[in-house]
Amino acid sequence: MLVRAVWVEGRKGPLAIYTRVTWRQGGADRPVARCSWMMWEELVQRDHRSRRSAEFTAGLVYLVVIALVVALGLTTTASSQGDRRTVRLRTLSPGDVLYVMLDGGGNSLALIGDEQVVLIDTKSPGWGQSVVDAVNAVGDQPIGTVINTHAHIDHTGGNLDLPAATTIIAHENAKAAMAKMPQFQGPGSRALPNKTMTDRLSLLDGRDRIELYYFGAAHTNGDLIVVFPAKRIAYVGDLFPSKAAPFIDTANGGSAIAFPETLAKAVSTISGVTRVITGHEEGVRATRSASPTSVDISTPQTMTWADLQEYADFNRDFLDAVRAAKAAGKSAQDAAASLKLAERYAAYDMTQASANVQAIYRELDAR
Ligand SMILES: [Zn+2]
Repeated sequence: MLVRAVWVEGRKGPLAIYTRVTWRQGGADRPVARCSWMMWEELVQRDHRSRRSAEFTAGLVYLVVIALVVALGLTTTASSQGDRRTVRLRTLSPGDVLYVMLDGGGNSLALIGDEQVVLIDTKSPGWGQSVVDAVNAVGDQPIGTVINTHAHIDHTGGNLDLPAATTIIAHENAKAAMAKMPQFQGPGSRALPNKTMTDRLSLLDGRDRIELYYFGAAHTNGDLIVVFPAKRIAYVGDLFPSKAAPFIDTANGGSAIAFPETLAKAVSTISGVTRVITGHEEGVRATRSASPTSVDISTPQTMTWADLQEYADFNRDFLDAVRAAKAAGKSAQDAAASLKLAERYAAYDMTQASANVQAIYRELDAR
């Protein structure tokens, strides 16, 4: 029986505790349990009361984990000449940390770099200061760079509260759309992107490297995918908001017909990603796995690359079904009412489906 515990100390207190229990049998270490606790939820709470309750919950979870580990140890050490080793790890490079922030609009990601924080999406108007407070809880670096995945106000509204952000990056079409929005008129124009891209852009190096991709129209005509290659994580914004029929903003260049093609390009072009962060909280799944042997019981359950592949298939199958209905002479209303997709999409939220059928009809008629 071997228990390894690793304590990760952040600049402002404990960040995470990882515990791994193995059982030595036949000369090999067999894993029994692997648990960890991270200060994840604390970061995303915007008021002190909920922060305290999140800490309390996280603390409780960790106590349960410890109890489990101790119980395992007590039942097995007698027969296995127990061997307990603990190391305390304190990071010398607090820069290699990536967080997701929920609530207040779309999901936001913060990469805590050595000199600055890179923030991806800034939530709805009035939430910028909450984002700054959360980032300050884990580092002293200013939010120097902002990436807006697209123009919508629930992903860009906090731009106005980030005066230290000297670089604001977006697709050129997203910037053009933002420039027309009331929040970015007059003094608000200083919060508009000052660096634009078209297809690809790379930022930073090494473990912090960020690759930005644009694959064409879908949710709008300026949706970026943000990939952290060394971390094998992608943030896909509203190209994949959650397992639901997507909102398609045709007024801002979004296209129901291009949507599946754009996602398929993303899936075939990007490689090496395992975890996918969706544009909205419901996609990340804030609930924890009940299984103590899951990879991480304390962090939100994120989507996987396979989920993104499935989402690309869903959008393609949706388009194919609507095309077939139109070819069969059905009205948009009938097509929406009789839409039948494969069983594997049964749990998808179809609230947006009828509007998307009409968008497809309009786009097909305009051709
Ligand atoms: Zn959006």
